[in-house]
Order: sequence, then C-alpha cells, then structure tokens
Amino acid sequence: MTQLTFLGSCREIGRSGFLVEHENESFLVDYGTKFQDPPAFPRMISTDGLQGIALTHAHLDHSGGLPRILTEDSDLSLFCTPATRDLTTLLIRDMYNISHGRMPFARTDINLVRRQCEPTRYEETVPLGRSFEMTLFNAGHIPGSAMVSLRVNGTRILFTGDFNAIESQLNPGARNNLPKHDVVVTESTYARRRNPPREQIEQDLIHTIEMTMERDGAVLIPAFAVGRSQEIMCILERYGLTKKYPIYIDGMSRKVNDILVRHPEYIMSPHTFERAVERINVIHDHRDRVRAVKNRGVIISPAGMLKGGASHLYFKMVHDDPRNSIVLVSFQIPGTPGAELLAHRKVTVGKRTFNVEADVFYHHLSSHSDSKGLLDHLLKIPGDPLFYIVHGESESCDALAEMLHEHGRKAVVPEVDESFEV
Ligand SMILES: [Zn+2]
Repeated sequence: MTQLTFLGSCREIGRSGFLVEHENESFLVDYGTKFQDPPAFPRMISTDGLQGIALTHAHLDHSGGLPRILTEDSDLSLFCTPATRDLTTLLIRDMYNISHGRMPFARTDINLVRRQCEPTRYEETVPLGRSFEMTLFNAGHIPGSAMVSLRVNGTRILFTGDFNAIESQLNPGARNNLPKHDVVVTESTYARRRNPPREQIEQDLIHTIEMTMERDGAVLIPAFAVGRSQEIMCILERYGLTKKYPIYIDGMSRKVNDILVRHPEYIMSPHTFERAVERINVIHDHRDRVRAVKNRGVIISPAGMLKGGASHLYFKMVHDDPRNSIVLVSFQIPGTPGAELLAHRKVTVGKRTFNVEADVFYHHLSSHSDSKGLLDHLLKIPGDPLFYIVHGESESCDALAEMLHEHGRKAVVPEVDESFEV
C-alpha cells in the first residue's frame, strides 16, 4: 500500500509539504513556510525510513522549513537542482535575519541545505531505497525550478510544484510532453485568471519606461529579488534599453545575479542575462539611491509589493513628481502597500499617508501558468491521472477541480493532513 499525505498547501499558498509512504520507507517533497505571526510549518514528520527530500524550487513557501527536518538526521539527502540549492540557502538566510529568532532552527542549521544536498539535474533518474525512484523535470517557474516525478511500487506520482508552461525572457517553459503518470499533485495559483500574451506585457512595460524617460522622469519597478528582477533585466537588455538609459538594481537581487551567473544552464539566454548584469548599475548604499533617482534612472528594487526591501525608500523619493512612474509587475496581495497604491493611488506607511502624483502602472509578469495554461498542460499528461489540487486560494483549488471535471477527469481538493491510498 502506498499512501500520500498532504502536510500543507491545502486550500492555501504556503507551507508546502507532501509525504509518500510505502511499507516502511517514505519520501518527502517540499517543506515550506507560511508567512504569518509566528511563521507556520507543516507538522513534523518522523525521519525513520525517510529516503530523502526533493525540493521543487527555492521560494520559501516550499523550502523555508528544510533546516528543521535536516537537523533530525545528518544522513538525510536533499535532492534539487544546484541553482535551487544556492537560491534556497540565500532566501532562508534572509528569512532568518528578519525573523528575530522565531525560526524553529538555528542560523548554523541553514548550512545543512548545502551540506546534505545531492545536486540533481533535470531528467536524471535517482533510485532511492527499495521502492522509490525520482526524476526532476523543468517547471519553468524560476531558474532551477523542478517538477518531481516519483515512482513507487509501479505508481507514478507527479508533483508539479509551481510551474509556468510558457517561456519568458528568463526561463524556458515547463517541460512539454511529460511522461505517463497515475497521480498528479498540481498547483492552482492562477486557476481563476487569464494573463495577456507575454510579448504584449513586455511591450507595454517598454512603452511605459520609454514614455517616462522622454518626459525626464524616473521609473521605480518594485520586484521580487529572485526571478522577477532578473526577468526585467533580460527584457530591458533584449529591447535595447540597457544601452539607452541608466538602469539600477538594488537589494538581494545582486546576490541572486551572482548565483545565476554561476548556473547559466537554468537561464533562457545566458548571454542576454550576462550582458544585462554587466550593463546594469549596482546600488551599494543610500547615496547611490539618491543618485539613481536624480539621474532619472530605471530602478529595480525588492520588495515586489512595496513592503520591506529598499523599494519603499525609493517610493518616498519618486511618489510626488508626476513625471515619474511606479510600475508594479507582480500580483499585489490585498492589504499590502502595493495593492493600496493600485486601488487608491496612495500608500500608508506607519501613520503617514502619501498621496501619489507619479504615474502608476501594472504590467503583471506572472511566473505561474494562468487558467488556460494550467488546464492545457495538465490535460496533456498521459495516463488519465487522478489530480490532487493544492497551492491556491480555496476558490482557485475548486475552480481547477471543476475545470478538470468538465473534461471528464478525476480531481480532488485535499485538506491539511489528509491521506490517500494511491
Ligand atoms: Zn514559487
């Protein structure tokens, strides 16, 4: 009997964790964090008989709890791509630094991610214990991201992780023509949304920047440090803007760039990315920030929703001049300053409310497939698999299950800690 247990990411985004057990062996896929106060993790599992852990990608909702598990057993192996290993270490360190000691592990435990990692390439099959066999496929979500295909006692289970079926200027799209599977555990982040064609969003972004430059304004692009910032760099390089205008990058993105330059095999066009890294100016301190705004530059800075990072410092410098533009490029979670800016053209920081004179734009460069992309990709997987829908708001999980039902497929939305025989 093979059992699949959902430790988290059920009707929510956060604390991903999936446990597969067969006889007295088991295998874990992802072990993430949910950002709340205090941060939440999947429940602790027994590491007796655990044959290893696979990590789909570096984002903390998939990786943030790993040090906690790895401290349990120093022989435990973590399987992920080398890019994911390096990005994960960087992100967990950053989370630890801002957590004020509320993490259930010590700072030194973060080193276990590197120490216990067995770097695994896409399409490479790894046998584990008596019953398991694991293969990673490109997921197209961020550099190094993977889908995890697990074979256990003849049953093939696919964990999609977060995926994007279409290519971007940074990532090649998720692997097409996936092999036969009996069970698919899929994300559903944007199961209720449609994205415009990528090229159109890129062109709109370029148009916004050129228009702002022509009227002698500065452009602030608040963006996630991993993935989104590098995608914007590649777009600006591809459309020739890195040669025309002063472009700046701030925050953790610099370290992410260093990591990705070392792992060019996970980038759509390493040449474009490296040229962008060479041409873009790195911000080192507050003096550089003031200079970048004065120079009427294009400034890429975390965080993506104007919360944390240096983006709120730039916001204060650019918000009151109608020649400037603020360009949001990711989904803005309700309640964040970014969402407030989009809805009301004002932002509240502490007790102060800033009315925004700058232009505000929204060019959403999604790193997830939209409803059509999700459905098309899932329906193409041969073997008429049974789908388990996770990693989405409750309504999104139900919406994807409904769409799959309409196509005559079997789909279930699991609850936390629910187990199924597969
Ligand atoms: Zn992700």
